[in-house]
Amino acid sequence: MHLIQRDSFTALKTLLNDTARFVGEAFMRAAVESLGRTLGADFVFISQTVHGAPGTVRMIAAHRDGQATDGWTFQLCGTPCDLIYQQRLEDPWSSMKIGRSVAISERVCELFDATRGSQFQSFIGVPLFDGESRMVGHVALFFNESVIDGDGLKLTVELTELFAQKIQAELNRMIADQSRDNLLGELRRLVEQLEHESITCGLTGLYNRRYFNHRMAQIHAASPSPTISETPYALLLIDIDHFKRINDTHGHDVGDEVLRHVARTVQRGIRSSGEEVYRLGGDELAVLVAGDVGAGALQRLGERLSRAVAEGWQSVRSCVAAPTLSIGATRRRSADPAWEDIYVRADRALYAAKRGGRNRTIVLEEAEFEPAS
Ligand code: GH3
Ligand code: MG
Repeated sequence: MHLIQRDSFTALKTLLNDTARFVGEAFMRAAVESLGRTLGADFVFISQTVHGAPGTVRMIAAHRDGQATDGWTFQLCGTPCDLIYQQRLEDPWSSMKIGRSVAISERVCELFDATRGSQFQSFIGVPLFDGESRMVGHVALFFNESVIDGDGLKLTVELTELFAQKIQAELNRMIADQSRDNLLGELRRLVEQLEHESITCGLTGLYNRRYFNHRMAQIHAASPSPTISETPYALLLIDIDHFKRINDTHGHDVGDEVLRHVARTVQRGIRSSGEEVYRLGGDELAVLVAGDVGAGALQRLGERLSRAVAEGWQSVRSCVAAPTLSIGATRRRSADPAWEDIYVRADRALYAAKRGGRNRTIVLEEAEFEPAS
């Protein structure tokens, strides 16, 4: 410890100059390095208490034998640092308190479990507080030499306390930044969750009608006037046959299970890109197919999905007959001014499938469309 030979004003000036350019963790690293060099300490660190883990602190910055060793956490118990956190000290420790700081002049390596086997003789520990006088961390200095000179020790503590005010301000700024970032992260997560919930159905996990309307309007607006040979998108409406009867015969729970099975199977049966599944409400689902698709392909898609629903059912519940689907499909054509026109045509195709005996897919082309009378 060479402070006693130095003018404390010069020492403080050095500490301030060495750290003036830095903020945040860089400031902390510069601070421990400068404290070690200026006060002749062999091990210096700045710690922060760990929220929700009493008795544990995290090293924000540490400097030992010329090297940075920060980033780890440790238990205070069995270390001289623990004395800083204790409000009331019993003998023999009371003589080592200087205000809220701790100063031990010799034999640190013999007095504490955690320092046994080290070379540390002296120790200075200064607490760091937040605006409400709660301890948020501390500054620790370890010296390999004993400091028998009581005045020298006291002066070093005072100097460390002065500089610790700057460390404390910076630490509190970092904590405020951390909690603001945590809050923002939590808010962002909540917004994402709300957004997700507002466009999905809780029972099936599929997109809901609100999102269907939005996507239909979006995809329609992106292809305002297709030529006669283009199909920018197509729509399948899927409705479970006699679903009410399933509910009435086997109960609402089985009805829900059928709904989930159909939703899962349709979701698995579509392409991962360009095709999206929605639950429009009740037992009605929709598949929006983006891109050019022929009427034959739409017919095959509907039939494939119906088959998959029937084939996959056995494994779910054998005593209830496999659900069947009626599917109405159509494609966007140049004569459709609004997305609702495509929806109405698909609904007519679905109605035709129901009327035709259910358990089938019907694709309606523009030419077949006759306005409802
Ligand atoms: P169709 O073959 O003509 O489609 O006959 P359907 O019985 O399937 O048609 P309908 O529209 O009369 O029945 C739909 C039923 O779906 C009525 C309603 O009680 C039921 N339902 C709506 N939402 C749910 C749900 O979330 N769970 C269950 N289990 N049933 C539902
Ligand atoms: Mg139905």
